[in-house]
Amino acid sequence: MSAVTSLVCFDLDGTLVDSGPGIIESVRRSAASVGIAEPDDEQLRALIGPPFPQAFRDVLGVDAATADAMMATYREVYGGGLMREVAVYDGVPDLLAELVARGDRLAVTTSKPRPFAHEVVTHVGLDKFFAGGVFGAEFDGSVEGKAAVVGLALAAHGGPVVALVGDRHHDVDGARAHGLPCVGVTWGFGGREELLGAGAAAVVDTPAAVTTALDALR
Ligand SMILES: [Mg+2]
Repeated sequence: MSAVTSLVCFDLDGTLVDSGPGIIESVRRSAASVGIAEPDDEQLRALIGPPFPQAFRDVLGVDAATADAMMATYREVYGGGLMREVAVYDGVPDLLAELVARGDRLAVTTSKPRPFAHEVVTHVGLDKFFAGGVFGAEFDGSVEGKAAVVGLALAAHGGPVVALVGDRHHDVDGARAHGLPCVGVTWGFGGREELLGAGAAAVVDTPAAVTTALDALR
């Protein structure tokens, strides 16, 4: 182990927690609030991971004003309670505990708003593992997208970084923007093909396999 503490960044939704049910219900209510057709299953899946409101435009084809209106409803219903409808993936707490015990510093880097991310991470009891911080987007738009969020975590750490661990191509892209490798995980919402296609350094099927993949990158 290096004497210098290394940082490992983790995506939140689809990587640490299965947040599908709360996000999907919030998207459904947001769509209903502006009177558009209910998103189908494929659209709902595509909406877990990329930042809103841009994703509403990209996936649902709505204009900017409609996407902004959906965003307002989304924040109201998701922040109002649906964000707590999450479950930590099996094996994730053991993975985080092992990395911390080995001397790594861990950070959450999510494109979800920072206050929501803090609440989710604390609600499921994972906050104790993230001494490197919980970073997310800002409601005022001053921080938006994975690359910007990862930049905050790197600046706060100021030392060596091993990789970003995530489930979508946005994670691979956001890591690459900083010259970092991404370890893709298949238990989330992107899947092996998406992650390999985006250029993930490794793709793993279980939390236990993340440690080995990270070691290969050190
Ligand atoms: Mg994700």
